Amino acid sequence: MIIASENSVALGAVLFAASKLDAWGIPVNPRLSAREIDQIATHSGARRVLFNAPLSKEAADHAGRVGATIRAVGPFDGVGVGPLNAGAKPEPVEKDGARQVAGLLYTSGTTGTPKGVMLSHTNLLFAARTSGILRESGPGDRVYGVLPMSHIVGYSILLIATLMHGSTLYVVAKADPAALAHAIAEQGITNLFGVPATYQRLLEHKSVKGIEKLQCGNLKNIAVAGAPLDLDLKQRIEDEFGIPLLNNYGITECSPGLSGVRSQRPVADESVGPFLPGIEHRIVDVNGKQVATGDVGELHVRGPNVMLGYYRAADLTAAAIDREGWFNTGDLARVNGEGHLYIAGRTKELIIRSGFNVYPAEVEAVLSSHKQVVQTAVVGRPVDGNEEVVAFVQLLPGASVSSEELKAYAAGQLTSYKRPTELIVLDALPAASTGKILKHRLREMAIERTA
Ligand code: ATP
Repeated sequence: MIIASENSVALGAVLFAASKLDAWGIPVNPRLSAREIDQIATHSGARRVLFNAPLSKEAADHAGRVGATIRAVGPFDGVGVGPLNAGAKPEPVEKDGARQVAGLLYTSGTTGTPKGVMLSHTNLLFAARTSGILRESGPGDRVYGVLPMSHIVGYSILLIATLMHGSTLYVVAKADPAALAHAIAEQGITNLFGVPATYQRLLEHKSVKGIEKLQCGNLKNIAVAGAPLDLDLKQRIEDEFGIPLLNNYGITECSPGLSGVRSQRPVADESVGPFLPGIEHRIVDVNGKQVATGDVGELHVRGPNVMLGYYRAADLTAAAIDREGWFNTGDLARVNGEGHLYIAGRTKELIIRSGFNVYPAEVEAVLSSHKQVVQTAVVGRPVDGNEEVVAFVQLLPGASVSSEELKAYAAGQLTSYKRPTELIVLDALPAASTGKILKHRLREMAIERTA
């Protein structure tokens, strides 16, 4: 069953109800385009779709578009109910309830077409339990629930983990930095979990409004995940709130948590922390051989949080999970002698220029350290059997720095093969509904510029 809704109590309730009935809950962001929603509807073969029409214009528009009947569903009024894929048969219910699919989550497709990730009850409960233990969550906590429940972090870490540990979820339908600043100051929020953009936008709000210092109220735990964290942003947030911004690493296919910084001491480091308990890992080279400690390789993991597979894509599943249960994250990473994990970027995004490896995250970190840069994304552009480094940059409003000056800034800190060939300033970088930058769009744009 597809539930297209902004974050709401209704969405949480319907997801739990679907899971109780052994139906597969498919939370979908109503801000997706008609094409994207239709793609998920067709691929999933879902037989029902609920649109939380009263909550957003987008959901109401989609409900109208598919001719859904507007009616009350349980205590929730005005929900659009549409039949879908009328002839489709339900998937058989697993005898072993722990392996029953509880959620089918479509990845946001930052690298291409969205994939349907089948997560079992075991997967989600393990991830939610671990996340709560890591954050020492309990009944006294008030968690700001702004990340969409249609994405794995909102679903597993905010919705499921918060309720499992008896904490309160402060449900937020739309990200708004002014509302966030107010909730932190006035609503007793203790835990905030965001993507880097959540924190970036909070600081932008502060500077646009000329606020001297954001009130930190009862905030005790601030965490971030989902994309590389710029150290300058981390520092500015820690200066603001006086507590460390804890970087967590995860992936939809692992429900999502794999590692997280636990130290309560601010550390100026890009580490995404040690692995969470119960997660095995290995870092391998192109031949599948383990690399030496501290060397970069591809990260493979194994544990109770690894998905059942990709829905209706046995070949993709077989390519991602081997017979012994090792899941290839598709990320390049290294682990230092103390067991701290560092993400170098995605295997697919690695740029090979004249035979040398260029990790986009390294170039992005240099460009982001410039005071007039808001965010950056670096991609490879194939040219005559080689690859060029192309950087996209979003500047602060009113910034005066030119592309050439930024290139010179990067050149001062990067060896020649890592320097961007081209640097393009955009008003905003294209992002998924989770705030994650859509690098495949940027790669297409980079290629089009030479066509
Ligand atoms: P798709 O897989 O379709 O491109 P997606 O990017 O939205 O979609 P997610 O599961 O949301 O899929 O993203 C997981 C990826 O995000 C990881 O593989 C990793 O590359 C990146 N990532 C997650 N957390 C961090 C982090 N703390 N630091 C750096 N990168 C991170």
